[in-house]
Amino acid sequence: MSIDDFKSKGRRKMLVDSLRTKGIENEQVLQAINSIPRHLFLDSAFSEFAYKDEAFPIAAGQTISHPYTVAFQTQLLDVQPKEKVLEIGTGSGYQTSVLVALGAEVFTIERQKELFDFSKIILRNIRFVPRYQTYGDGYKGLPTYAPFDKILVTAGAPEIPKELLKQLKIGGIMVIPVGENSQKMMTIIRLDEDNFEMYEFGDFQFVPMLERRDK
Ligand code: SAH
Repeated sequence: MSIDDFKSKGRRKMLVDSLRTKGIENEQVLQAINSIPRHLFLDSAFSEFAYKDEAFPIAAGQTISHPYTVAFQTQLLDVQPKEKVLEIGTGSGYQTSVLVALGAEVFTIERQKELFDFSKIILRNIRFVPRYQTYGDGYKGLPTYAPFDKILVTAGAPEIPKELLKQLKIGGIMVIPVGENSQKMMTIIRLDEDNFEMYEFGDFQFVPMLERRDK
């Protein structure tokens, strides 16, 4: 399997142009998307469609998010090189690779074993390797590696997980889709030990963040 090819590069360029038209303006984010061979994250049956702005099924009944959603969340996260970023919901690993392309030190958690295994292989193959990748429960975060400059949740959270708020640096930003059936995109900025500021950015549709295992 080739890592990338001419046709895919051309399709990707068109995807990036369409994201720009839809309002994504952060050039670093657009560049990162332009550098990732998204077709390798999908089942080969879908590879022809990999650069349409669509969500697709991946293993374990989950989906790889729309490129627009990935771009939108990444833009809100305002990632700077070397920042410590915690991602909840590795899924295919596509969003993870975009964060790695931006120069972040990425820590990512997935609670479906099949996806954890798959994403580990693909991220190594394309050489966008996160700093730490684990199979576990995102509600718990990663206290050993906390605090994080940024936290990105890529599954629909019924509520804002308290444990994750604790693991955010002061001045740090969390981007999280909150809601049961459809989600409001929220950014949460930690002002100090006890105070957080929240902003809302429209409606999105995510697969649900699964229940904690210890319940
Ligand atoms: N970022 C992914 C999107 C995957 S969809 C991508 O680019 O492909 C959301 C993912 O969150 C799914 O893979 C799902 O299994 C995972 N997830 C759901 N609840 C979780 C939890 N409590 N902890 C960790 N991962 C979770």
